[in-house]
Amino acid sequence: MELAIEQAKLAQKDDEVPIGAVIVSGSNVVSSAHNISNDPTAHAEMLAIRQAFSTSTLCDAEMYVTLEPCPMCAQAISFARIKRLYFGLIIQKVEELKMVLRYFNFAAIYLKFMVGY
Ligand SMILES: [Zn+2]
Repeated sequence: MELAIEQAKLAQKDDEVPIGAVIVSGSNVVSSAHNISNDPTAHAEMLAIRQAFSTSTLCDAEMYVTLEPCPMCAQAISFARIKRLYFGLIIQKVEELKMVLRYFNFAAIYLKFMVGY
């Protein structure tokens, strides 16, 4: 999570929403990223997944994110078959939280997806 926070700080330096994501497999960091502007899909989680897929599969991977993923990223995490997700803060809006958890519940049934808090 410390590496994800470092990524979030890099985003903040660029006046971006300070969100960072890191994907690890075992003790290896597979990828890390932070939010970038000028692309509505350039969320930290999406960028980390894209980087990671260029080098390996993610079936054994875990992701650390500084904020609970939005629905777009939650779905991408599910499709990437990342084994476990840890996030630092949860979304405060109850309806958004229900929407995100719905993706994880779907993944839990079909992909043995696990959410860690
Ligand atoms: Zn997102």
